[in-house]
Amino acid sequence: MDLSEPVEVLKGIGEKKAELLRKCGILTVRDFFYTLPRDYEDYQAPTSIAAIRPGKIVIKGKIDSLSSRRTRRRSLSITEGVVRDKTGAIKVIWFNQKYRMKQFSPEKEYYFTGNYEFRQGRYTLVSPSAAEVTDVDIATGLSPVYVAHGKLKSADFRRLFNASRDRFSSVPDLLPSVPHGERGRALFDAHFPSTHEAITAARDYLAYEELFELILASKLNRRENDKLKAEPIHFDAEKIKEFVANLPFKLTNAQRMASWEIFQDMMKAVPMNRLLQGDVGSGKTMVAAMAALEATLAGKQVALLAPTAVLAAQHYKGLAGLLEPFGVKSALLTGATKGKNTLKKQIESGEINLVIGTHALLTDDTVFSQLALVIIDEQHRFGVMQRQKLMLKSPPGLAPHLLAMTATPIPRSLQLTVFGDLDVSILNEMPKGRKQITTQILSEVEINERLYPMIRKVVSGDNGKKTTSALDGKPARSKISNSSRRTNQSTPSNGQQVYWICKAIEEGAYGSSDKTQSEVTSVKSRAKKLCDVFPEYRVEFLHGKMKPAEKDDIMERFAAHQIDILVSTTVVEVGVDVPNATLIVIENAESYGLAQLHQLRGRVGRGSLESYCYLLTTGDVPPSRRLRELEKSTDGFHLAEVDLKLRGPGEIYGALQHGALDLRIASLSDTKLIHKAQQDVERFLQNPENMVKYKELMQGIAKYQQITTLN
Ligand code: ADP
Ligand code: MG
Repeated sequence: MDLSEPVEVLKGIGEKKAELLRKCGILTVRDFFYTLPRDYEDYQAPTSIAAIRPGKIVIKGKIDSLSSRRTRRRSLSITEGVVRDKTGAIKVIWFNQKYRMKQFSPEKEYYFTGNYEFRQGRYTLVSPSAAEVTDVDIATGLSPVYVAHGKLKSADFRRLFNASRDRFSSVPDLLPSVPHGERGRALFDAHFPSTHEAITAARDYLAYEELFELILASKLNRRENDKLKAEPIHFDAEKIKEFVANLPFKLTNAQRMASWEIFQDMMKAVPMNRLLQGDVGSGKTMVAAMAALEATLAGKQVALLAPTAVLAAQHYKGLAGLLEPFGVKSALLTGATKGKNTLKKQIESGEINLVIGTHALLTDDTVFSQLALVIIDEQHRFGVMQRQKLMLKSPPGLAPHLLAMTATPIPRSLQLTVFGDLDVSILNEMPKGRKQITTQILSEVEINERLYPMIRKVVSGDNGKKTTSALDGKPARSKISNSSRRTNQSTPSNGQQVYWICKAIEEGAYGSSDKTQSEVTSVKSRAKKLCDVFPEYRVEFLHGKMKPAEKDDIMERFAAHQIDILVSTTVVEVGVDVPNATLIVIENAESYGLAQLHQLRGRVGRGSLESYCYLLTTGDVPPSRRLRELEKSTDGFHLAEVDLKLRGPGEIYGALQHGALDLRIASLSDTKLIHKAQQDVERFLQNPENMVKYKELMQGIAKYQQITTLN
């Protein structure tokens, strides 16, 4: 049996069904067989209706009086009816599942399982799953539940699989390291389990297969990368020493180590493919600066790609001045840059050595003459295609060295699998003198009594510490240069600054019918409130819909301490560096992921001053585990592990890189299985013939190869 054939070759799948399947991305027999159940319902041992108790129940009966209506809050449809057996009848209700109207015929018998609970004055079976009795394997009572895709509901999938039931035994083997027939058996058991143990065994096999493919893909990427040629870059020890000696601070050991690793990579004739991981504030930019210096000293060009204009501008201001004494000519290229054409000519002629920019760098008319190093800040913000575009700007036949940076630490288990053979440098040490950030969860009702006084204390400079501008008391170099241009009316206080993060841009931006979302207080109205509460402070707001120039202007003024309180959406999330900001309030904290909260919190605690983070929650519900973990720890690596446990790899991965890694089964916390798969992949790769012999495997991993590579 050839799994790559179109689904139509299967019994019960005609033109129409095939079209529906195609719409959900199921094209081949393989796609179809690997459409695995989301869950299993256990219809074993149904109770008679007369004997049921509140809680989870299984019953068997017929359904009548089915009707559907919309609630006054138009968004919700309610389908309700009555389930009967010989002993009695109960009410049943579904929300937003109108298709239930068509699912049942009055003369047929169905299993139902769900929660039997008290709702609006009576006991009701709430949103049960249901299956026709004849569809469920009587012997086992286990029924798979499939994710509904458009018109195809779970029951439709069950029926379709039933029609191909006998085909699973002829599914060909995929992996060399597994007994013959195990793949077909696992797939069969996943769709037609006879026991709970069979489900577990099927999942074990499928998880192993998935990990094997993922790890193989990542190792092959490494091999392919090593076949590419890059310009070796000479290590100029003298100049680097001089550069380091001129810095207003001492490099951390971690920074030294990382830059050493990078120099080593760049000296090779194969492209560097390195990820620099470091918590917010760990000083990744300085490491990037040294790499850039090294490349430009060798007469090459460097491109630094940043996700936002604000960040690109900040990098430009930070780096251009530092590198200029070494003869490095830098330029900023963003959407808002004036005179792009002249600039692009200078890039093409090689006159400009270091180009720092946003997506504007990626356009086809940005041509380099000697691009040899690409640095991507916050790499997870960019898609594979975008990164690739930049990589292709090197001279023909050559690939640039790549340094990707991220503040979202990759948990070790992900590193072993997804980024298997990627080179990683870690900045696990904060610059000296950083203070821990005190984090606290506050309920909104505590704003007046607890938060406002704290803000007043911080902004008025009564934060227990003498205010120094940054970095162990030394004046920060290369700060915003034109701050004097518009020095503010009010005397610049010696106090510190505050970020206040809100979710929406305007009241009701999410539609006002939804209660939870209208609770989201907008940037604008929050800014207005704060103006009223603190008339003596300079309050401004910032959000993503503003023009780039406006945003830059606000950020510049904030950096120059012409603004005391900046109310903003998450546009300040990434990398923005204002060491004098020491207090951050995150409104609706529950609505963010752990990694993002940690990123946001990283906007403060960047200097040597005591810093604070307040997580505001709206409701009466106790704070989630996520928030409590954040309160306890400021260690990004620890938080990443926690996040992985709490949310699973899909979510985490999504945050790391665009292009979803759809690990359907494997759990990345299963280190034992990961190790086994790793070893088996090693063995597989030792025999080059395998690459030819295992065709299906090699074709199948192409999809992973796209996402396990950095370039
Ligand atoms: P991130 O890793 O979050 O990108 P940055 O590179 O923006 O961090 O660095 C954060 C701040 O720390 C910057 O103001 C930078 O100048 C400063 N910094 C970097 N390295 C050191 C160091 N070794 N000692 C003191 N301050 C440093
Ligand atoms: Mg940064």
